[in-house]
Amino acid sequence: MSAWKRGNEPLRAPSRLLLGPGPSNVAPSVAAAQGSAPVGHLDPFHLSVLAAIRPLLRQVLGTGNELTFAIPGTGTTGMQAILESLLEPGDGVLVGSCGYFGGRLAEASRRLGAEVTLVEGEWGKPLALDALRSAAQGKKMKAVCVVHAETSTGVLQELPGMSELAAELGALLVVDAVTSAGATPVEMDARGIDALFTCTQKGLGCPSGLAPLSMSARAVEVMKARRSPVPSFALDLGLHAGYQAESPVYHHTSPSGSQLALHEALRLIHEEGLAARYQRHAEASARAVAGLETLGLELLVPKEQRIPHLLAVRVPEGVDDAKVRRHLLERHSIEIGGGLGQLKGKIWRMGLMAEGARPRSVDKLLEGLKEALKSS
Ligand SMILES: *Cc1c(COP(=O)(O)O)cnc(C)c1O
Repeated sequence: MSAWKRGNEPLRAPSRLLLGPGPSNVAPSVAAAQGSAPVGHLDPFHLSVLAAIRPLLRQVLGTGNELTFAIPGTGTTGMQAILESLLEPGDGVLVGSCGYFGGRLAEASRRLGAEVTLVEGEWGKPLALDALRSAAQGKKMKAVCVVHAETSTGVLQELPGMSELAAELGALLVVDAVTSAGATPVEMDARGIDALFTCTQKGLGCPSGLAPLSMSARAVEVMKARRSPVPSFALDLGLHAGYQAESPVYHHTSPSGSQLALHEALRLIHEEGLAARYQRHAEASARAVAGLETLGLELLVPKEQRIPHLLAVRVPEGVDDAKVRRHLLERHSIEIGGGLGQLKGKIWRMGLMAEGARPRSVDKLLEGLKEALKSS
Protein backbone atom coordinates (compact mmCIF):
# COMPACT_ATOMS: atom_id res chain seq x y z
CA MET A 1 0.00 0.00 0.00
CA SER A 2 2.67 2.49 1.04
CA ALA A 3 4.83 1.46 -1.92
CA TRP A 4 1.88 2.09 -4.20
CA LYS A 5 1.31 5.48 -2.61
CA ARG A 6 4.89 6.51 -3.09
CA GLY A 7 4.66 5.68 -6.77
CA ASN A 8 1.26 7.28 -7.21
CA GLU A 9 2.44 10.43 -8.90
CA PRO A 10 2.66 11.04 -12.61
CA LEU A 11 6.17 10.62 -13.94
CA ARG A 12 7.36 13.36 -16.24
CA ALA A 13 10.06 12.90 -18.81
CA PRO A 14 13.03 15.27 -18.51
CA SER A 15 13.49 17.74 -21.30
CA ARG A 16 16.57 16.58 -23.16
CA LEU A 17 18.39 17.86 -26.17
CA LEU A 18 18.79 14.57 -28.03
CA LEU A 19 21.97 14.72 -30.10
CA GLY A 20 22.99 11.09 -30.11
CA PRO A 21 22.43 8.38 -32.72
CA GLY A 22 18.69 8.44 -31.97
CA PRO A 23 16.11 9.12 -30.78
CA SER A 24 16.00 12.73 -31.89
CA ASN A 25 13.82 15.56 -30.65
CA VAL A 26 10.42 16.00 -32.22
CA ALA A 27 8.39 19.06 -33.19
CA PRO A 28 5.66 20.06 -30.69
CA SER A 29 2.91 19.15 -33.16
CA VAL A 30 4.37 15.65 -33.54
CA ALA A 31 4.44 15.17 -29.77
CA ALA A 32 0.84 16.41 -29.58
CA ALA A 33 -0.23 13.96 -32.28
CA GLN A 34 1.48 11.13 -30.44
CA GLY A 35 -0.50 11.99 -27.31
CA SER A 36 -3.89 12.26 -29.01
CA ALA A 37 -6.87 10.21 -27.84
CA PRO A 38 -6.87 6.63 -29.12
CA VAL A 39 -9.16 5.65 -31.98
CA GLY A 40 -10.01 2.16 -33.18
CA HIS A 41 -7.76 0.44 -35.68
CA LEU A 42 -10.69 0.13 -38.11
CA ASP A 43 -12.07 3.62 -37.42
CA PRO A 44 -12.45 5.43 -40.76
CA PHE A 45 -10.35 8.26 -39.30
CA HIS A 46 -7.45 5.92 -38.50
CA LEU A 47 -7.72 4.26 -41.91
CA SER A 48 -7.55 7.71 -43.50
CA VAL A 49 -4.36 8.43 -41.51
CA LEU A 50 -2.78 5.21 -42.80
CA ALA A 51 -3.88 6.05 -46.34
CA ALA A 52 -2.36 9.54 -46.04
CA ILE A 53 0.93 8.19 -44.68
CA ARG A 54 1.58 5.85 -47.62
CA PRO A 55 2.09 8.47 -50.38
CA LEU A 56 4.03 10.79 -48.05
CA LEU A 57 6.32 7.94 -47.10
CA ARG A 58 6.81 6.97 -50.76
CA GLN A 59 8.06 10.49 -51.48
CA VAL A 60 10.56 10.46 -48.61
CA LEU A 61 11.87 7.03 -49.62
CA GLY A 62 11.88 7.91 -53.32
CA THR A 63 9.68 5.05 -54.43
CA GLY A 64 6.46 4.25 -56.20
CA ASN A 65 6.17 0.86 -54.46
CA GLU A 66 2.63 -0.19 -53.59
CA LEU A 67 3.85 -2.02 -50.46
CA THR A 68 4.98 1.03 -48.46
CA PHE A 69 3.78 1.57 -44.90
CA ALA A 70 4.84 1.59 -41.26
CA ILE A 71 4.38 -1.38 -38.95
CA PRO A 72 4.47 -1.27 -35.14
CA GLY A 73 7.93 -1.74 -33.69
CA THR A 74 11.24 -0.02 -34.38
CA GLY A 75 13.92 -0.17 -37.06
CA THR A 76 14.92 -3.60 -35.78
CA THR A 77 11.36 -4.85 -36.31
CA GLY A 78 11.46 -3.52 -39.87
CA MET A 79 14.64 -5.49 -40.55
CA GLN A 80 13.14 -8.62 -39.03
CA ALA A 81 9.85 -8.26 -40.96
CA ILE A 82 11.62 -7.90 -44.30
CA LEU A 83 14.03 -10.77 -43.69
CA GLU A 84 11.28 -13.03 -42.30
CA SER A 85 9.03 -12.25 -45.25
CA LEU A 86 11.69 -12.88 -47.92
CA LEU A 87 14.11 -15.52 -46.63
CA GLU A 88 13.64 -19.25 -46.40
CA PRO A 89 15.98 -21.86 -44.89
CA GLY A 90 18.87 -22.61 -47.22
CA ASP A 91 18.64 -19.33 -49.14
CA GLY A 92 21.96 -17.71 -49.98
CA VAL A 93 22.37 -14.23 -48.54
CA LEU A 94 25.31 -11.93 -49.15
CA VAL A 95 25.80 -9.42 -46.34
CA GLY A 96 28.25 -6.55 -46.50
CA SER A 97 29.20 -5.26 -43.09
CA CYS A 98 31.64 -2.71 -41.75
CA GLY A 99 29.97 -1.96 -38.47
CA TYR A 100 27.60 -3.16 -35.80
CA PHE A 101 24.43 -2.84 -37.85
CA GLY A 102 25.77 -4.79 -40.82
CA GLY A 103 26.56 -7.60 -38.40
CA ARG A 104 22.93 -7.69 -37.27
CA LEU A 105 21.71 -8.24 -40.83
CA ALA A 106 23.95 -11.30 -41.00
CA GLU A 107 22.91 -12.61 -37.58
CA ALA A 108 19.17 -12.16 -38.22
CA SER A 109 19.48 -13.89 -41.63
CA ARG A 110 21.39 -16.80 -40.11
CA ARG A 111 18.72 -17.26 -37.44
CA LEU A 112 16.19 -17.70 -40.24
CA GLY A 113 18.26 -20.56 -41.64
CA ALA A 114 19.80 -18.63 -44.53
CA GLU A 115 23.30 -19.48 -45.72
CA VAL A 116 25.07 -16.23 -45.11
CA THR A 117 28.19 -15.10 -46.92
CA LEU A 118 29.46 -12.30 -44.71
CA VAL A 119 31.91 -9.78 -46.12
CA GLU A 120 33.44 -7.80 -43.32
CA GLY A 121 35.13 -4.52 -44.12
CA GLU A 122 37.09 -2.28 -41.83
CA TRP A 123 35.02 -0.28 -39.34
CA GLY A 124 35.13 3.39 -40.29
CA LYS A 125 35.44 2.68 -44.03
CA PRO A 126 32.78 1.98 -46.63
CA LEU A 127 32.42 -1.44 -48.23
CA ALA A 128 34.22 -2.12 -51.46
CA LEU A 129 31.85 -3.38 -54.14
CA ASP A 130 34.59 -5.63 -55.53
CA ALA A 131 35.02 -7.40 -52.20
CA LEU A 132 31.31 -8.22 -52.19
CA ARG A 133 31.42 -9.41 -55.79
CA SER A 134 34.41 -11.69 -55.30
CA ALA A 135 33.02 -13.17 -52.05
CA ALA A 136 29.80 -14.10 -53.85
CA GLN A 137 31.79 -16.12 -56.43
CA GLY A 138 28.89 -15.77 -58.85
CA LYS A 139 26.70 -18.00 -56.64
CA LYS A 140 22.97 -17.52 -56.80
CA MET A 141 21.70 -15.48 -53.86
CA LYS A 142 18.27 -14.60 -52.55
CA ALA A 143 19.35 -11.25 -51.14
CA VAL A 144 22.23 -8.83 -50.95
CA CYS A 145 21.98 -6.87 -47.68
CA VAL A 146 23.80 -3.65 -46.84
CA VAL A 147 23.47 -0.70 -44.47
CA HIS A 148 23.08 2.71 -46.09
CA ALA A 149 24.14 4.81 -43.10
CA GLU A 150 26.23 2.72 -40.67
CA THR A 151 25.42 4.49 -37.42
CA SER A 152 28.09 2.65 -35.44
CA THR A 153 30.91 4.21 -37.47
CA GLY A 154 29.41 7.28 -39.15
CA VAL A 155 30.05 5.98 -42.67
CA LEU A 156 27.55 6.61 -45.48
CA GLN A 157 27.70 3.66 -47.84
CA GLU A 158 27.65 4.53 -51.53
CA LEU A 159 24.96 2.46 -53.20
CA PRO A 160 25.67 2.86 -56.93
CA GLY A 161 26.61 -0.51 -58.42
CA MET A 162 24.90 -2.47 -55.63
CA SER A 163 21.73 -3.19 -57.58
CA GLU A 164 23.78 -4.36 -60.57
CA LEU A 165 25.67 -6.73 -58.28
CA ALA A 166 22.39 -8.01 -56.82
CA ALA A 167 21.05 -8.54 -60.36
CA GLU A 168 24.17 -10.53 -61.35
CA LEU A 169 23.47 -12.88 -58.43
CA GLY A 170 19.73 -13.07 -59.10
CA ALA A 171 19.21 -11.41 -55.71
CA LEU A 172 17.04 -8.72 -54.19
CA LEU A 173 18.83 -5.67 -52.80
CA VAL A 174 17.86 -5.16 -49.14
CA VAL A 175 18.94 -1.90 -47.49
CA ASP A 176 18.94 -0.72 -43.87
CA ALA A 177 18.05 2.98 -44.16
CA VAL A 178 17.32 3.42 -40.45
CA THR A 179 19.59 6.43 -39.99
CA SER A 180 19.40 7.88 -43.48
CA ALA A 181 15.69 8.32 -44.27
CA GLY A 182 14.49 11.88 -43.76
CA ALA A 183 17.97 13.34 -43.27
CA THR A 184 19.74 12.43 -46.51
CA PRO A 185 18.34 11.16 -49.84
CA VAL A 186 17.45 7.46 -49.89
CA GLU A 187 16.22 7.23 -53.53
CA MET A 188 14.96 3.70 -53.30
CA ASP A 189 13.79 3.28 -56.92
CA ALA A 190 16.63 5.19 -58.57
CA ARG A 191 19.13 3.01 -56.70
CA GLY A 192 17.33 -0.21 -57.52
CA ILE A 193 16.62 -1.12 -53.88
CA ASP A 194 14.06 -3.94 -53.53
CA ALA A 195 13.39 -3.84 -49.82
CA LEU A 196 14.13 -1.08 -47.37
CA PHE A 197 13.37 -0.41 -43.73
CA THR A 198 13.78 2.56 -41.45
CA CYS A 199 12.63 3.87 -38.09
CA THR A 200 10.62 6.89 -37.00
CA GLN A 201 12.90 8.29 -34.29
CA LYS A 202 15.99 9.38 -36.20
CA GLY A 203 15.81 11.40 -39.43
CA LEU A 204 12.03 11.46 -39.58
CA GLY A 205 11.65 13.37 -36.30
CA CYS A 206 9.01 11.25 -34.61
CA PRO A 207 9.01 9.23 -31.36
CA SER A 208 10.07 5.61 -31.78
CA GLY A 209 7.36 3.00 -32.16
CA LEU A 210 7.00 2.27 -35.86
CA ALA A 211 9.07 0.77 -38.63
CA PRO A 212 8.37 2.39 -42.00
CA LEU A 213 9.32 0.02 -44.81
CA SER A 214 8.86 -0.63 -48.50
CA MET A 215 9.17 -3.56 -50.90
CA SER A 216 9.36 -3.48 -54.69
CA ALA A 217 6.89 -5.43 -56.84
CA ARG A 218 9.73 -7.91 -57.49
CA ALA A 219 10.26 -8.43 -53.76
CA VAL A 220 6.51 -8.91 -53.27
CA GLU A 221 6.60 -11.59 -56.00
CA VAL A 222 9.42 -13.34 -54.17
CA MET A 223 7.44 -13.19 -50.92
CA LYS A 224 4.36 -14.61 -52.63
CA ALA A 225 6.35 -17.41 -54.26
CA ARG A 226 7.64 -18.77 -50.92
CA ARG A 227 7.59 -22.54 -50.48
CA SER A 228 6.76 -22.16 -46.78
CA PRO A 229 4.67 -19.57 -44.91
CA VAL A 230 6.46 -16.61 -43.33
CA PRO A 231 7.61 -18.01 -39.96
CA SER A 232 6.47 -14.98 -37.98
CA PHE A 233 2.73 -14.39 -38.05
CA ALA A 234 3.22 -10.97 -36.41
CA LEU A 235 5.77 -9.79 -38.98
CA ASP A 236 4.33 -11.35 -42.14
CA LEU A 237 4.30 -8.40 -44.55
CA GLY A 238 1.63 -10.09 -46.68
CA LEU A 239 -0.69 -9.93 -43.65
CA HIS A 240 0.35 -6.32 -42.94
CA ALA A 241 -0.43 -5.47 -46.57
CA GLY A 242 -3.87 -7.00 -46.05
CA TYR A 243 -4.54 -4.61 -43.19
CA GLN A 244 -3.22 -1.63 -45.19
CA ALA A 245 -5.40 -2.57 -48.20
CA GLU A 246 -8.53 -0.81 -49.51
CA SER A 247 -10.71 -3.24 -47.54
CA PRO A 248 -8.60 -3.78 -44.44
CA VAL A 249 -8.41 -7.20 -42.83
CA TYR A 250 -7.66 -7.20 -39.11
CA HIS A 251 -4.16 -8.34 -38.27
CA HIS A 252 -3.13 -6.30 -35.19
CA THR A 253 -4.39 -3.27 -33.26
CA SER A 254 -2.61 -0.44 -35.01
CA PRO A 255 -1.18 2.16 -32.56
CA SER A 256 -3.27 5.18 -33.57
CA GLY A 257 -1.20 7.81 -31.72
CA SER A 258 2.05 6.59 -33.26
CA GLN A 259 0.63 6.52 -36.77
CA LEU A 260 -0.85 9.99 -36.32
CA ALA A 261 2.52 11.26 -35.08
CA LEU A 262 4.22 9.73 -38.13
CA HIS A 263 1.72 11.44 -40.38
CA GLU A 264 2.44 14.78 -38.72
CA ALA A 265 6.21 14.26 -38.96
CA LEU A 266 5.90 13.40 -42.67
CA ARG A 267 3.59 16.37 -43.23
CA LEU A 268 6.20 18.68 -41.69
CA ILE A 269 8.89 17.15 -43.89
CA HIS A 270 6.85 17.91 -46.99
CA GLU A 271 6.00 21.39 -45.77
CA GLU A 272 9.73 22.05 -45.38
CA GLY A 273 10.56 20.33 -48.67
CA LEU A 274 12.96 17.43 -49.00
CA ALA A 275 15.73 19.43 -50.66
CA ALA A 276 15.54 22.15 -48.01
CA ARG A 277 15.54 19.55 -45.27
CA TYR A 278 18.65 17.79 -46.59
CA GLN A 279 20.31 21.19 -46.94
CA ARG A 280 19.45 22.07 -43.33
CA HIS A 281 21.04 18.81 -42.17
CA ALA A 282 24.16 19.45 -44.26
CA GLU A 283 24.49 22.97 -42.85
CA ALA A 284 24.08 21.82 -39.24
CA SER A 285 26.72 19.20 -39.93
CA ALA A 286 29.18 21.72 -41.38
CA ARG A 287 28.63 24.03 -38.40
CA ALA A 288 29.25 21.18 -35.97
CA VAL A 289 32.35 19.93 -37.77
CA ALA A 290 33.88 23.42 -37.80
CA GLY A 291 33.16 23.82 -34.08
CA LEU A 292 34.49 20.37 -33.20
CA GLU A 293 37.70 21.06 -35.08
CA THR A 294 38.05 24.36 -33.21
CA LEU A 295 37.86 22.34 -29.99
CA GLY A 296 40.73 20.24 -31.32
CA LEU A 297 38.57 17.17 -31.91
CA GLU A 298 38.98 14.79 -34.85
CA LEU A 299 36.39 12.97 -36.88
CA LEU A 300 36.74 9.26 -37.56
CA VAL A 301 35.48 9.41 -41.15
CA PRO A 302 36.70 11.69 -43.96
CA LYS A 303 34.15 14.15 -45.31
CA GLU A 304 33.40 12.33 -48.58
CA GLN A 305 32.45 9.10 -46.74
CA ARG A 306 30.71 10.66 -43.79
CA ILE A 307 27.05 10.51 -42.79
CA PRO A 308 26.49 14.27 -42.61
CA HIS A 309 24.06 14.11 -39.71
CA LEU A 310 25.79 11.44 -37.60
CA LEU A 311 29.30 12.41 -36.66
CA ALA A 312 31.73 9.91 -35.19
CA VAL A 313 34.20 11.94 -33.13
CA ARG A 314 37.39 10.46 -31.74
CA VAL A 315 37.68 10.55 -27.94
CA PRO A 316 41.00 12.33 -27.38
CA GLU A 317 43.83 10.49 -25.65
CA GLY A 318 43.46 10.69 -21.86
CA VAL A 319 39.82 11.82 -21.92
CA ASP A 320 37.21 9.72 -20.11
CA ASP A 321 34.48 9.01 -22.66
CA ALA A 322 31.74 8.20 -20.14
CA LYS A 323 32.57 11.15 -17.90
CA VAL A 324 32.13 13.61 -20.76
CA ARG A 325 28.80 12.07 -21.73
CA ARG A 326 27.64 12.11 -18.11
CA HIS A 327 28.64 15.77 -17.77
CA LEU A 328 26.67 16.68 -20.90
CA LEU A 329 23.60 14.80 -19.68
CA GLU A 330 23.65 15.93 -16.05
CA ARG A 331 24.76 19.54 -16.48
CA HIS A 332 23.33 20.39 -19.87
CA SER A 333 20.61 17.78 -20.38
CA ILE A 334 22.25 16.90 -23.70
CA GLU A 335 22.45 13.29 -24.85
CA ILE A 336 25.17 12.08 -27.20
CA GLY A 337 26.12 8.47 -27.90
CA GLY A 338 29.18 6.41 -27.08
CA GLY A 339 30.85 3.90 -29.38
CA LEU A 340 29.51 0.41 -30.09
CA GLY A 341 31.44 -2.84 -30.36
CA GLN A 342 35.08 -2.35 -31.28
CA LEU A 343 34.66 1.46 -31.16
CA LYS A 344 33.37 1.47 -27.56
CA GLY A 345 35.25 4.11 -25.57
CA LYS A 346 36.99 5.31 -28.72
CA ILE A 347 34.36 7.57 -30.30
CA TRP A 348 31.38 9.70 -29.46
CA ARG A 349 28.44 9.66 -31.82
CA MET A 350 26.73 12.98 -32.31
CA GLY A 351 23.50 13.07 -34.24
CA LEU A 352 22.12 16.23 -35.78
CA MET A 353 18.85 14.82 -36.99
CA ALA A 354 15.36 16.19 -37.53
CA GLU A 355 14.75 18.88 -34.87
CA GLY A 356 18.36 18.54 -33.72
CA ALA A 357 19.71 19.74 -37.06
CA ARG A 358 19.49 23.42 -36.16
CA PRO A 359 22.19 26.00 -35.42
CA ARG A 360 20.87 26.49 -31.88
CA SER A 361 21.28 22.79 -31.04
CA VAL A 362 24.74 22.65 -32.58
CA ASP A 363 25.87 25.66 -30.57
CA LYS A 364 24.52 24.23 -27.32
CA LEU A 365 26.34 20.98 -28.00
CA LEU A 366 29.62 22.76 -28.71
CA GLU A 367 29.33 24.90 -25.58
CA GLY A 368 28.51 21.92 -23.40
CA LEU A 369 31.29 19.87 -24.92
CA LYS A 370 33.85 22.61 -24.39
CA GLU A 371 32.96 22.74 -20.70
CA ALA A 372 32.82 18.96 -20.34
CA LEU A 373 36.27 18.56 -21.90
CA LYS A 374 37.71 21.17 -19.58
CA SER A 375 36.38 19.42 -16.52
CA SER A 376 37.33 15.91 -17.60
C1 LIG B 1 19.18 2.64 -34.98
C2 LIG B 1 19.55 1.69 -36.04
C3 LIG B 1 18.92 0.44 -36.17
C4 LIG B 1 17.97 -0.09 -35.13
O1 LIG B 1 16.82 0.66 -35.09
P1 LIG B 1 15.89 0.64 -33.80
O2 LIG B 1 14.83 1.62 -34.16
O3 LIG B 1 16.75 1.05 -32.65
O4 LIG B 1 15.37 -0.73 -33.63
C5 LIG B 1 19.24 -0.36 -37.24
N1 LIG B 1 20.14 0.03 -38.16
C6 LIG B 1 20.77 1.21 -38.08
C7 LIG B 1 21.74 1.60 -39.13
C8 LIG B 1 20.50 2.08 -37.01
O5 LIG B 1 21.13 3.24 -36.93
